Amino acid sequence: MTTLLDTLRRIVGAPQVLTEGDLSAYTHDWRRRWQGRPLAVVRPGSTAEVAAVVRACAAAGTAIVPQGGNTGLVGGGVPDTSGTQVLLSTGRLNRVRGIDAANLTLTAEAGCVLQAVQQAATDAGLLFPLSLAAEGSCTLGGNLATNAGGTQVLRWGNARELCLGLEVVTAEGEVWEGLTGLRKDNTGYDLRDLFVGSEGTLGIITAATMKLAPLPAATMTAFAACRSLDDCVELLNRARARLGSGLTGFEVMGRHALDLVAQHFAQLPRPLPQAPWTALLEHSDTEGEQAARERFEALLGAAMEAGIVTDAVVAESVAQSNALWHVREAIPLAQAEEGPNIKHDISLPVSAIAAFCEHTDALLLRHFPGVRLVNFGHLGDGNLHYNVQSPAGGDAGRFLAECEHEVNRIVYDALVPHGGSFSAEHGIGVLKRDELAARKSPVALAMMRKVKAALDPRGVLNPGRVL
Ligand code: FAD
Ligand code: ZN
Repeated sequence: MTTLLDTLRRIVGAPQVLTEGDLSAYTHDWRRRWQGRPLAVVRPGSTAEVAAVVRACAAAGTAIVPQGGNTGLVGGGVPDTSGTQVLLSTGRLNRVRGIDAANLTLTAEAGCVLQAVQQAATDAGLLFPLSLAAEGSCTLGGNLATNAGGTQVLRWGNARELCLGLEVVTAEGEVWEGLTGLRKDNTGYDLRDLFVGSEGTLGIITAATMKLAPLPAATMTAFAACRSLDDCVELLNRARARLGSGLTGFEVMGRHALDLVAQHFAQLPRPLPQAPWTALLEHSDTEGEQAARERFEALLGAAMEAGIVTDAVVAESVAQSNALWHVREAIPLAQAEEGPNIKHDISLPVSAIAAFCEHTDALLLRHFPGVRLVNFGHLGDGNLHYNVQSPAGGDAGRFLAECEHEVNRIVYDALVPHGGSFSAEHGIGVLKRDELAARKSPVALAMMRKVKAALDPRGVLNPGRVL
């Protein structure tokens, strides 16, 4: 009798069906919170092979968990522990299929690492603006499946806004050829946007056509110290008014976040003295360096005069700019070094963020004396990584086990009166599935279930994720 594994070996070649040896790169998530046990890791090398794998699994009634770079933070890309699910890794779908410079588009396969996509655009003298700290390992397909955000959303939007067309293998193993570079195409329901952000539950993205932009002539970065989050918001609004679309990044970092970076990555610079909040501003300009620098320094000078900024430093070189970004990007890594922690990826109207933090910080500190609020994020998008680290020197594992549920309840309940969301950019996966069920409107949930039932009636694609 031919088994499913035999069929999969015939489709992709025996060396691309992994069942033994060290599979932890696939079976453990980045945070080491979930460890799965797949029937096999299958590595198709083409869209046709993906389709054949899906058809074989569907015929056998076997669930498929798609995985790209395995940097997701909500447990959506690792299999469960049943030993029955096939992990479909997109790692070999890694070709940039082409760049249309006049149309400002790039078409690449789902397993392309984000950094490679950025590099392909740069090599063509163009910019692919999606950027996040995991860009050395995360993939274009994973970025689209999670509708990733990152540090340039303020100017360019998230993965969804950058996507024009998709190629998708459906749950039936058919190929939807939706690759298009059109900016206008109102021909029926928007299937592309249904798959973007669906976290592998509706189809397997095999390739995408993405928007590019002209490379800026000059990009500069600054750190600005502020006394409060209110002052950061005021600085953001001044920067928007003064720089317009030239404001390409506005991140904030709380004191505990920068302390952890200093503690675990002593080689990184700490250019400003400790402050309650530090903002990272990025200004990109299509004209020249000189004019951009003058405008940027004038903005910061005026903010200092107004008392909104207490101290500021503008990077003098590309190397210095990169070093400032490294500090920001090292925060999640420093948190991982420090030990288990409770992550929240929340969004709020920018106007409500300061009040939310003041209220919620106080509640948490009252309930859990000594907890460290390691807050940082994309203030320009109203998106904070509002993370809670156990009291210094305490048992972090025990804190997580005993307090996570209550900490989550306090934080997510506090979002409600401010009109916030409990998942801004990381998605639902398994981590927030119960929150979604409890907090999303019943009407929205019912529509989502109907969409899932229509596109994946047998429930083969990433079951138990999102819904
Ligand atoms: P995976 O982790 O492999 O998968 C993620 C989900 O997508 C899973 O549900 C999986 O089943 C599904 N999936 C993957 N590929 C496909 C496909 N081809 N078709 C269908 N479904 C698929 N996220 C942000 O949004 N902004 C950030 O700033 C950010 N910073 C991060 C920093 C660090 C240090 C880390 C570790 C993560 C960060 N993330 C961030 C989260 C993560 O990098 C993103 O979610 C990323 O988009 C996931 O890509 P991936 O290829 O690693 O996907
Ligand atoms: Zn983020």
